[in-house]
Amino acid sequence: MKDTTSQPIRTTCPYCGVGCGILVTPGPEGVTVAGDPDHPANFGRLCSKGSALAETLGTEGRLLTPLIGGRTSGWDRALDLIARRFTRTIAEYGPDSVAFYGSGQMLTEDYYAANKLMKGFVGSANIDTNSRLCMASSVAGHIRAFGSDTVPGLYEDFELADLVVLVGSNLGWCHPVLYQRLLAAKEARPALRVVVIDPRRTATCDIADLHLPITPGSDAALWNALLVEIDARGLGQWRNRVAGYDEALAAARAGSRDCGTDLTAFIEMWCSTERVVTAYSQGINQSDSGTDKVNAILNCHLATGRIGRPGMGPFSVTGQPNAMGGREVGGLANTLTCHLSLDDPAHRSAVQSFWNSPRIASRPGLKAVEIFEAIEDGRIKALWVMGTNPTISMPEADRVARALESCDFLVASDMVSTGTTRRADVVLPAAPWGERSGHVTNSERRISPQRAFLPPLGLARADWQAIAGVAQRMGFAGFDWADADAVFAEFKALSGVAGTLGADFDISGLSGDVPALWGNRPDGRFFGDGLFHTQDGRGRMIAVTPRAATPQMRLNTGRIRDQWHSMTRTGRAPRLNAHIAEPFVEVHPKDAARLGLAPAGLAAVENRHGRAILRVLVTDRTAPGQVFAPIHWTEANAPSGRVGALVPGAPDPVSGQPALKEASVTLSPFRAAWFGFAASARPFTPACDYWATARFAGGLRAELAGTAPPSDWEDYARTLFGLPGAEAAVLTDRARGLMRLSLSEGGILMAALFCAAQPVALSRKTVCDMIGQPAPAILTGQPPVGRADPGPTVCACLGVGRNTIRDAIRDGRCGDLGSLGRELGAGSSCGSCKPELRALLATMLEPVPSA
Ligand code: SF4
Repeated sequence: MKDTTSQPIRTTCPYCGVGCGILVTPGPEGVTVAGDPDHPANFGRLCSKGSALAETLGTEGRLLTPLIGGRTSGWDRALDLIARRFTRTIAEYGPDSVAFYGSGQMLTEDYYAANKLMKGFVGSANIDTNSRLCMASSVAGHIRAFGSDTVPGLYEDFELADLVVLVGSNLGWCHPVLYQRLLAAKEARPALRVVVIDPRRTATCDIADLHLPITPGSDAALWNALLVEIDARGLGQWRNRVAGYDEALAAARAGSRDCGTDLTAFIEMWCSTERVVTAYSQGINQSDSGTDKVNAILNCHLATGRIGRPGMGPFSVTGQPNAMGGREVGGLANTLTCHLSLDDPAHRSAVQSFWNSPRIASRPGLKAVEIFEAIEDGRIKALWVMGTNPTISMPEADRVARALESCDFLVASDMVSTGTTRRADVVLPAAPWGERSGHVTNSERRISPQRAFLPPLGLARADWQAIAGVAQRMGFAGFDWADADAVFAEFKALSGVAGTLGADFDISGLSGDVPALWGNRPDGRFFGDGLFHTQDGRGRMIAVTPRAATPQMRLNTGRIRDQWHSMTRTGRAPRLNAHIAEPFVEVHPKDAARLGLAPAGLAAVENRHGRAILRVLVTDRTAPGQVFAPIHWTEANAPSGRVGALVPGAPDPVSGQPALKEASVTLSPFRAAWFGFAASARPFTPACDYWATARFAGGLRAELAGTAPPSDWEDYARTLFGLPGAEAAVLTDRARGLMRLSLSEGGILMAALFCAAQPVALSRKTVCDMIGQPAPAILTGQPPVGRADPGPTVCACLGVGRNTIRDAIRDGRCGDLGSLGRELGAGSSCGSCKPELRALLATMLEPVPSA
């Protein structure tokens, strides 16, 4: 018998900045995905998103050919047109009239080609990336403090520390495998303490010895207060080894502010623990004073010398798989390449000479927010967007969408149709994860290969190939790479030149194609010796004056456990949609009561920038006066769930990173006349005031609501599902405002619609499981007698629902994580659901207070 299985291919996860190694094994039934036990980032672990990667490889919705004006084209015509329009625009309006806007999803090779073309040949630095929205304030903070954008520590420092402080980071949901490493270390060594600093009680708080629910925006004040105490206790051991100590201390003393919570225990822990890691993420970076917040953290580590040694140091956790690679390549508007400086003539000259380019950008270009403003006012005439959808991810997303519509010439490279590709003059089909090869760098500076294991679908190509094609057509030499390896070899050689100029990023000696940490220090860490990349070699402490917080109802934005960005990939995996299937807003019970918001009802969340309609989740995880909403939903799956439309996104003055976590909003009940739930074996697009769709294994489901009910439900359902001739069964209860409708073909249930005057209460999973099965005589929306409703999915890998878990805890079968895993399988695979399992255990096993 022929063996149709193959050897596993080593590659890297395409989602978050943890950068987990993956083994992909092609087989007769498709590919299987497993964690790579030999990869030093994850040692075989994967989170729910990584584990479900094989489910996301379908062809549905993929862009297969270039499009010009919405019509199919060949690559040559498309590239000719792009080259012609960019050349003409540059000739007419100058190099700064064009721009590239990329993504932390791009591979290092793509970034390298784009940066070389724009900075070295067009002669502008108008190249920026959605990484600007993610960690630009960390880059700026590093450069101010260290003289270079260098992450000092390693993942293993989380395990070696005695205290890990997580600031503005929901590590449990956003970087799950790093969280699991921390959790395992804490379980093995309970003396390792964890502090979470976050206005919200996130899933990560589950393992925290201390949670500080600070007032939003008061982070800098907190770190200033710590610095004052560090000095008072005589812990400022590097006072004379770093610059700016006294100025930073004076600013800290002057800028004290109430953080909304008692800091005593935290300060005591931090001061008394030498091995301390402070990890921070978007909660720090996505602020209009993000760089100051970063430096306020770095100040405390520099003052104490707790940096670059085992188990200690500040640690910026990056959001995207190759945000770090983009930083190394120079894919930001204010950087050059290989940690060389755009401001240094010698650096520019060396890079120009290496590229043999006719010119080189000599000043910073437009950053992300500025690019779209420049389109609005006509300074940018031609834009190429690669691997990102700014109509969702940018602040003031509606305004950005209008700007793109007004752009003279817009090119978009993507794997699927998005709000950006739909507005583009030329669309290029990009080869995604699995169909392209190259490299990514994770949060700890580890470069890993991403390898193709499938042929490109249709005419899809890697971004570097498209960029090289355009560059060659613009008449530029030096873009005739044979393959991605040749691009990477050139990048490595350039980094060798950078090394001779004193840059720390020199990978010219990197050999082989295995995960490799860059840096020339024996233990892989930087700055433990007190030597930095500044002119005088000293680290710099920065005087930070905290900003005042806004008093209005404040919207905090973020991510959910099982989705990634705008869901173009994770939204394809049914099991990832089973956890949370529609956009929501978390509201504190006091605010909900005050504003008349009912649990599971809908709220209109609005301000002068935009409006969203979101499902109300009443919870005390969010403090009074604050609300939280996730960022993932788009016009394709929930048009009124686009949270980016509400965010003004004032940029940080140093880094240009917009404040994506800061918006003042008002909330009011969305007065729906009817609510509905629909499920169908075939795709459908609802048309009503509120809708949100999600895939399940047998089709598509949707939550619906409208301000006026249709005149005829049966007609409505037939049109909605595209089943004009199906056999309909309708049950209505006018007195209770209920309606249940099924449509079947040949005795098979093809679609179901449930509507009510209140949010529809039924077992969604039961209804979804019935689609495609023999049509029942009566559609109840409840499990058959004798079978329990599992409830919403908690464990995505094993499909274990909340009701099942609660029942097992309630009847005493399970009392801890181990027994939940043994009895139900919950949490026994990727472990991403462990925070929720622990929370359920904690709530249900709480001792009942005696009367
Ligand atoms: Fe991918 Fe999850 Fe690892 Fe992040 S933690 S790289 S999403 S598997």
